[in-house]
Amino acid sequence: MTIQTADQTSKVMAAPMISHWIDGRPVETLAGETSPVFNPATGALIGRVPRGGQSEVDAAVAAARTAFPAWRDMPLIARSQIFFAFRELVWQHRTELARLITRDHGKTLPDALSEVTRGLETVEFACGLPVHLAGMNTPNVSTNVDTLTLRQPLGVAAGITPFNFPVMVPMWIYPIALACGNTFVWKPSSHTPGATQLQAELWKEAGLPDGVFNIVYGGREAVAAILGHPDIAAVSFVGSTPVGRYVHEVGTRNGKRVGAYTGAKNAMVVLPDADMELAADAAVAAGYGSAGERCMAQTLVIGVGDASDRLLPLILERIEGLKVGPGDEAGVDMGPLYSAEHREAVIRWIERGVANGADLLVDGRPYRHPAHPDGFFLGVSLFDNVTADMDIYQEEIFGPVLGLVRTRSYDEALGLINAHKYGNGTAIFTNDGGAARKFEMEVDVPMIGVNVPIPVPAGYLSFGGTKESAFADLQMRGDDGIRFFTKQKEITVRWPDPGRRSSLSLVFPAN
Ligand code: NAD
Repeated sequence: MTIQTADQTSKVMAAPMISHWIDGRPVETLAGETSPVFNPATGALIGRVPRGGQSEVDAAVAAARTAFPAWRDMPLIARSQIFFAFRELVWQHRTELARLITRDHGKTLPDALSEVTRGLETVEFACGLPVHLAGMNTPNVSTNVDTLTLRQPLGVAAGITPFNFPVMVPMWIYPIALACGNTFVWKPSSHTPGATQLQAELWKEAGLPDGVFNIVYGGREAVAAILGHPDIAAVSFVGSTPVGRYVHEVGTRNGKRVGAYTGAKNAMVVLPDADMELAADAAVAAGYGSAGERCMAQTLVIGVGDASDRLLPLILERIEGLKVGPGDEAGVDMGPLYSAEHREAVIRWIERGVANGADLLVDGRPYRHPAHPDGFFLGVSLFDNVTADMDIYQEEIFGPVLGLVRTRSYDEALGLINAHKYGNGTAIFTNDGGAARKFEMEVDVPMIGVNVPIPVPAGYLSFGGTKESAFADLQMRGDDGIRFFTKQKEITVRWPDPGRRSSLSLVFPAN
């Protein structure tokens, strides 16, 4: 985001400056460009974030590199005690973290609290690091020969994260990277820095050695510096598809291990035998929760047979009761969008849907919050008769826009999902176990809900999409996360029987 006018510039300069976090302390860049931070509920400018580049990334990587050997060699139980302390501190500060998320992002406070606790699941998983890092001993691979398999950290790892989950998504990455013995450089989104900063402070309080965890704010310059840095071994990215594709291409070309988890367009199928009340609750919650700014939002509802006709009035009834407003106000169901620009982009998507020929049954565009006319609010929108050739079917909108797709059969619904360019999450609503099982087997999407609309696996399991929703060989978190952030060694060891003499042979050793 750039600053347009002299008046805006002076306001930005007066707003509190958020600092990078390098080598265990805040580091402010005195000169250079900054990005403004807004409270989306009021539209007020609340801070500014530095735009770091090569020199800040160099400083963070140097600190991480220096801290690496001692962190790698720290006894596992001592390392895990720091994780337990961090876990306790995050729990104690959960409301503060949630308030900062709501202030910067706009989502409701209960939603932000859930974000923190879902993120903590991965921290809790990481507390068990001595178990996760256990190797394997395979005895007797040959006479008197055993093989030891062990996992070692890579060195300095980096994470690049989006605005929409400023606590949970980073917590899907850095606890695993650190637990494995790597040191870390985090390039967060500049839109939601409040909770970011607090996470660094809590690590310090938990006893993490300086330099192990570093934060550099910035945009494309900072990301380019990370991707080009010879001392960064691995990059975990979460964000939009075009940026993720670029990060994967450039990072892997530069010899780094890269996992990029990207955009989505998720669809839930509703079969005629489904519990329609449950399906309607799910569609409204998964479509409009967090103003549709979730990569696992279900923004397409594919009704089979007469399911759409029966579902539609139930969805409309629920929309009627939704309250849009500031996320920290009691009783609010949906907050504002995170930025004024994004609000305009979502409005353009709604216009595209109308131009595509879909039926706009509920139009959120005129909504204004009476007390906060400058807030980035948008009401919810509902399209009916969305078809696969429409842009609003194909593309991620990332706003409170739900589309109903009408199909004649299960096969048609399945075919639509499998042909889509994205593959992140999906769901089926039915009371028929056999139909659900068939869907589980046949659908080409890795995270599947059965009567569950947002099937984000628990934080100790792996998470990740396919097709244009991920550019990665492994999923993130869980066992895949441990594999991603470690390198494996196989050590073949011979201890001959005492007294046995060696004999010379030039034959390739066979077992
Ligand atoms: P984004 O791609 O704009 O930003 C992600 C990160 O990349 C940020 O740190 C940002 O500063 C940086 N970035 C942005 N533009 C860049 C550029 N041109 N060059 C280099 N770096 C750049 O994404 P966002 O708007 O912050 O987040 C929303 C997107 O993230 C959605 O597409 C959503 O689906 C996706 N997302 C995916 C998952 C997942 O697990 N698959 C989870 C959350 C969000």
